[in-house]
Amino acid sequence: MKTQVCIIGGGPSGLLLSQLLHLQGIETVVLEKHSREYVLARIRAGVLEQGFAALMREAQCGERMDREGEIHHGFFIADGGRLQRVDLHRFSGGKSVVVYGQTELTRDLYEARDRMQGVVIHNVEDVQLHDLATDRPHVTYRAGDEIVRVDCEYVVGADGFHGVSRKSIPKDVLREYERVYPFGWLGVLSRTKPVSPELIYARHDRGFALCSLRSQVLSRYYIQVSLSDKVEDWPDNAFWAELKRRLPAEVGERLVTGPSIEKSIAPLRSFVAEPMRWGRLFLAGDAAHIVPPTGARGLNSAASDIHYLYHAMVAHYQKGDDSGLDGYSARALARVWKAQRFSWWMTTLLHTFPDAIAYERKLQETDLAYLFSSEAAQRSLAENYVGLPF
Ligand SMILES: Cc1cc2nc3c(=O)[nH]c(=O)nc-3n(C[C@H](O)[C@H](O)[C@H](O)COP(=O)(O)OP(=O)(O)OC[C@H]3O[C@@H](n4cnc5c(N)ncnc54)[C@H](O)[C@@H]3O)c2cc1C
Repeated sequence: MKTQVCIIGGGPSGLLLSQLLHLQGIETVVLEKHSREYVLARIRAGVLEQGFAALMREAQCGERMDREGEIHHGFFIADGGRLQRVDLHRFSGGKSVVVYGQTELTRDLYEARDRMQGVVIHNVEDVQLHDLATDRPHVTYRAGDEIVRVDCEYVVGADGFHGVSRKSIPKDVLREYERVYPFGWLGVLSRTKPVSPELIYARHDRGFALCSLRSQVLSRYYIQVSLSDKVEDWPDNAFWAELKRRLPAEVGERLVTGPSIEKSIAPLRSFVAEPMRWGRLFLAGDAAHIVPPTGARGLNSAASDIHYLYHAMVAHYQKGDDSGLDGYSARALARVWKAQRFSWWMTTLLHTFPDAIAYERKLQETDLAYLFSSEAAQRSLAENYVGLPF
């Protein structure tokens, strides 16, 4: 098989890039390890920056997002009994975010790929990247007993944190930066009316809680839990009771509970791999960096990589201009690190760290008090939350 760009990974990064390049007449093949049903069953992100929404429209995939997604102009920070609204619209020069689930967005991307007869190959096994340091790289995968070879000009590693692409960069070239947090998030999806029309990020001595949503009839809630906790330790009634304890009383009283339709625990980690380009391989999205979900940067950081890579590839193929490809790693990483800083800051501000010393707890209290009382602090939070410019 031959193509111009072989993309490893059929998550949002790989599908979005494939769709955008195809619209510019650039051929791609997407190789995905799992079935489409499996990819679409993953419940993950739900808050999109304006830049991401614009890319979806550019990819001709924005119609349902614009119809069904909710525009949010603000969110709340709670601390014990206090509740402070952060006015995103006012403090970011009129910007907002779109609440639209990653599952829906991925479904839209798959449907768009189908409409254009894009090549997305599922259930590929044992993907291997070859000759990346030459100008004729190729990728192999196993389909049953057969080894299939894809010859290409570029390889894009969009295969998430556990993928193979990053591991194809030689160890003496790759630098990895990591922070693992001493807690996880237990998430519950329920077909109930959200407790608040806007998200609530809540700090509490018992641990962080987040009231999020996918629509006005579908709620997504999270609580901070110990890394040793298992989903089985948290029957629905225990989850709802603990969530309620961590919210201001006036919010807790409004909480509508119901059976969970999905429940999972995710560990929290900050991670960056540098460089994001090696030879003919480009890393994008979670393959190169991940953040704790506090602040909703994960999927949005993936989108900014795709923005840079898409424009760089179009300049290469349409104008013979390689400056975007050559500058991709540095450009993408500059924005990635800002998202890392913001996610780390929000996580530190709002979580209960089991090993925190009294001095650190005092700083956390002061940081929150400053945020609650200062427009400048809220402006900075809003600027980062709606997404820094690409
Ligand atoms: C449990 C969880 C909850 C999250 N919640 C949030 C949130 O609330 N807010 C937020 O902003 N972000 C959240 N994120 C992060 C967000 O979901 C990711 O940033 C986003 O999925 C990145 O998209 P991606 O396409 O780069 O990677 P992925 O979505 O991971 O897609 C990578 C794809 O590559 C495939 N793949 C892997 N290995 C191979 C291989 N060897 N060969 C072929 N294919 C392969 C995978 O099956 C997958 O489909 C969450 C992530 C997780 C794991």
